[in-house]
Amino acid sequence: MKIYFNHDHAAHAGQSEMFRGALVPCFEVPARADLVLQEMRRINFGEVLAPRPFDDSALARIHTPRYLAFLQTAWQQWLALDPANATRDVLPSVWPGADGRTDREPGNFSARLGLYCFDAGTPLTAGTWQAARSGADCALSAAAAVLAGERAAFALTRPPGHHAGAGYFGGYCFINNAALAAQYLRDQGLDRVAVLDVDYHHGNGTQSIFYDRADVFFASIHGDPRTEYPFYLGHADERGAGASLGANLNLPLARGTDYAAWSQALEEGLRAVTDYGAQALVLSLGVDTFAQDPISGFKLHSEDFLRMGERIAKAGLPTVIVFEGGYAVEAVGVNVANVLQAFA
Ligand SMILES: [Zn+2]
Repeated sequence: MKIYFNHDHAAHAGQSEMFRGALVPCFEVPARADLVLQEMRRINFGEVLAPRPFDDSALARIHTPRYLAFLQTAWQQWLALDPANATRDVLPSVWPGADGRTDREPGNFSARLGLYCFDAGTPLTAGTWQAARSGADCALSAAAAVLAGERAAFALTRPPGHHAGAGYFGGYCFINNAALAAQYLRDQGLDRVAVLDVDYHHGNGTQSIFYDRADVFFASIHGDPRTEYPFYLGHADERGAGASLGANLNLPLARGTDYAAWSQALEEGLRAVTDYGAQALVLSLGVDTFAQDPISGFKLHSEDFLRMGERIAKAGLPTVIVFEGGYAVEAVGVNVANVLQAFA
């Protein structure tokens, strides 16, 4: 399997995130991707490649121009406020809320930031754009490899992507890598593409991007949004809009779910992908379903990830695998490797 590794990923390294009224060290750390790469090398799995550069137009197929312009220049805007900001991460503290206008971009930096970010857990840093932009190249390179005939390819990148919408970041995500890959497969000629999101958290960004489109099917297995982040999307009754009604499948599960119950949801998700008639699959692979994950609530064990990979491979689809969450850092390499090895 070809593995496209983001050599710029460590340029994004937040110091802290807001959690229950306190700034705490970030859970989403550079070691996550490094340890997955280390495990790939240890078990001698796959061919590790640098991504090839893609034009910004591929990003503009998913994200809005004003959002991309903001993301690209946010750090410079932050420094322009005060050079002393160079030692601080950017975190929002004000938001438009449900009734505020979002069509007008505010002149105030903090207000602009709140317009483009939905939580206070996602620090933007000096190297965020560089890391996220190279991550997009990884996802697009993996999609191109699959189009060229590879059974599967893996985009090993961070920051993750599935919480990022067309015009906002949050949930540690800035550029939606899975959505970029799915769109690239469509643009290169496939008629029907499915995204399967197995991260513990609902892929709200990916769902929103494709919600009214029938050409990309989205299925997600995740912690029930009544109690689990990102809270405001991910319910079972979100099934798509208009012509795409039925092209969105949410399978929320209670905290404490083990693999026996989780795998039933996987069966349902894969059955729906097959019924949809997908020609290719994009897998948003988060391994924060792991029992020891510090910010999640399912009870999957390392050997369960073998069964997961094996079952997803049985769907028989060309598959672009994109790295998302997984915060039990010491186990993240083994858990990802188990999925990939069993898939292969
Ligand atoms: Zn997650």
